[in-house]
Amino acid sequence: MFIQQIDAKVTGVSYELLGKGRELAEKLNSDVTAVLLGHNVGGLCDKLASFGADKVVLVDDAALETYTTEPYTHAVHSVIEKYKPEIFLFGATAIGRDLAPRVSARVHTGLTADCTKLEIDEESKLLRMTRPAFGGNIMATILCPDFRPQMATVRPGVMKKILPIEGAKAVVDEFNPGFELNNKYVEVVEIIKKVSNKVDIMDAKILVSGGRGVGSPENFKLLKDLADAIGGEVASSRASVDAGWTEKDIQVGQTGKTVRPSVYFACGISGAIQHLAGMEESDLIIAINKDESAPIFDVADVGIVGDLNKILPILTEKIKTE
Ligand code: FAD
Repeated sequence: MFIQQIDAKVTGVSYELLGKGRELAEKLNSDVTAVLLGHNVGGLCDKLASFGADKVVLVDDAALETYTTEPYTHAVHSVIEKYKPEIFLFGATAIGRDLAPRVSARVHTGLTADCTKLEIDEESKLLRMTRPAFGGNIMATILCPDFRPQMATVRPGVMKKILPIEGAKAVVDEFNPGFELNNKYVEVVEIIKKVSNKVDIMDAKILVSGGRGVGSPENFKLLKDLADAIGGEVASSRASVDAGWTEKDIQVGQTGKTVRPSVYFACGISGAIQHLAGMEESDLIIAINKDESAPIFDVADVGIVGDLNKILPILTEKIKTE
């Protein structure tokens, strides 16, 4: 699988791929190989071993210091040509979505994008790749019987990483594609990093999420007060993002982020299938909705029927005074 690193920091989804890779490899009696590209990133190899990699194929080249499409495509293509894996996975990040289709075209195989489930078919030993289709209304399971590798991008936050194995040491295979990886077409002139002191909602243990029922951007303060009182973060449905009340980076759901917190408060959220796709794996779901027939109550562990404007301040006050 492709390991995404930025500034020598491995992206979370890569650890999730390693965890899933372990599970698939056990079913196939095979190994998990992490493909790590970059410059001076060899120090990450042991960490990848601790999260489940049997082997790390390392391509270290100055041209790979910052992600650009051409050199990365050449390098991953060469690795696949040499090692001929049965399965090759990418995270469905912006980089993975750019890279995977190009690599799949080069190696003449199919690509199932944005998978939410991967399993091995007991009989054929093929990879069953499942992804939402038709706006999330059906789940499509796709097989790739004739071409190799079987290739997929996987949604961040869906697969589980393993608990790190203390003291794991990587078996590293340094790979040189044997040709210049320099980028002929693109020159990186400047990198402007987004500065943010917000916690990513995918890392938060408690989320207080608001939908159209919150009613206005100002009213999100009620959710922020509760989140602050219990050490959580605010998230939202797409309706709130589309209304301009909240930022896209806190959207939960099929076209937002997949979250798996210990506690998920769904406030004024109806529970559309596309929203549920991003949060139904949460450990405890607490829904507040004034409509007792809202579908969110079908997945909620605790349901409160009522007006969030009344319930949230009471809840926050109670938590503060307990
Ligand atoms: P609504 O469905 O309008 O629900 C508002 C709820 O608030 C209602 O249940 C109402 O009873 C309740 N309410 C109103 N006032 C109060 C009050 N005072 N107190 C308590 N409850 C109140 N949606 C996502 O969220 N994430 C996605 O990633 C996503 N991706 C999509 C992708 C596609 C291809 C498509 C077609 C749709 C997608 N959607 C997504 C949109 C999704 O279908 C729904 O439209 C959206 O989730 C609805 O958001 P909502 O629940 O906030 O709003």
